[in-house]
Amino acid sequence: MNAFQYRRGELHCEGVPLRRLAEEFGTPLYVYSQGHIAGQYGDLHKALRSLDHLICFAVKANSNLAVLRALAEAGTGFDIVSGGELYRVAQAGGDPRKCVFSGVGKTRDEIEYALKLGIYMFNVESEPELRRISEVARCMGRRAPIAIRVNPGVDPDTHHYISTGKHESKFGISLREALDVYRQAARLDGIKIRGVQMHIGSQITKTAPFVLAIRKLLRLIEQVRGIAPRTLQSFDMGGGLGIRYRDERPPTAVEFARAVMPHLKAMGLRILLEPGRFIVGNGGVLVTRVVHIKRTPVKRFVIVDAAMNDLIRPSLYGSYHEIIPVTAKAARRKITADVVGPVCESGDFLAQERRLAAVGENALLAVMSAGAYGMVMASNYNARPRPAEVMVKGSRYELVRRRESVKDLVSGETIPSWLM
Ligand SMILES: *Cc1c(COP(=O)(O)O)cnc(C)c1O
Repeated sequence: MNAFQYRRGELHCEGVPLRRLAEEFGTPLYVYSQGHIAGQYGDLHKALRSLDHLICFAVKANSNLAVLRALAEAGTGFDIVSGGELYRVAQAGGDPRKCVFSGVGKTRDEIEYALKLGIYMFNVESEPELRRISEVARCMGRRAPIAIRVNPGVDPDTHHYISTGKHESKFGISLREALDVYRQAARLDGIKIRGVQMHIGSQITKTAPFVLAIRKLLRLIEQVRGIAPRTLQSFDMGGGLGIRYRDERPPTAVEFARAVMPHLKAMGLRILLEPGRFIVGNGGVLVTRVVHIKRTPVKRFVIVDAAMNDLIRPSLYGSYHEIIPVTAKAARRKITADVVGPVCESGDFLAQERRLAAVGENALLAVMSAGAYGMVMASNYNARPRPAEVMVKGSRYELVRRRESVKDLVSGETIPSWLM
């Protein structure tokens, strides 16, 4: 489903013109398509239907309650990386029993909270963490279900900031050491071995790295089965499925399933996936308004009201986001310009040396593919209130997070008594 399309020259999200949303809720504004988000999940779920599986949406990609609710309703589980994300899932009506808890630095409090809610399993990233989880569980008279995150040593050929499966990464336990850690786990009173997990990186646009990584883990999985024959239930292959930002040709859900399924079926385990970007990335846009056009002797800048604090991916990773006019007819002529925000940093840009429609002051632009790692990474840098978020379903739409006010910016701060 392509949820964002021009109709009569106006860019729509499903049945709703983005111009109407910008006028009603202001800019910058995140707009999400429920149809796209549920559709992406549905495609993957259907492609894997001949396999016992659970798709756990990676909450870190987009943690808005409405998004989580839409996915929970569709039947997903969740991959969380903090107690805060687990709280969000619970608030959205998600099922903790379908949650896996990833991340390298889980605290005592977070472990306790997750055990209390009864999550499916902890994905353990180190021996000290394994011992800590065991200790917390024992204090509660419980056994914590775990998987070890195993680092298969595969280069997924993506941006080095989002590649996690290579040997030098901070994530996971190397394949060489993993069996030993599983043996230790089997001896701990507070631990129950439930799975084997991997996650090799993000925005992976080929199937080969997944297949290679799975094949490298097959022997280990059999060895773990030997250690924990009664409790081993699942293999979690992580997230990382790429999407199209520009001209990438990532595998479709069906192509992905066709490549990995032969290797997974033989395992006889329940297969977990942790996609984030694949589910929401192209289900959201950031709508922004042109403040003015600035020309210097050598360059042209389109200065917009969205900035790196609203969408940091271009500044942080050099990511490409397509930028198109909300009203198509406004802009047949093309210019080359940098699209920049008002933040006082040279790194504050949404696009550089970009060919784009020759828009003027007050024109609305849509920054595409902003549904994943957009709003979740927004900050208040430069004392800028964070954007509002809207969810669209067909011809219906609703504000799902109000725009922050300047009052929100200072709430929680106090001036010490000696300065009063
Ligand atoms: C970030 C992350 C994901 C999701 O990655 P996507 O590229 O958004 O699919 C899944 N699992 C783990 C452990 C992660 O750190």
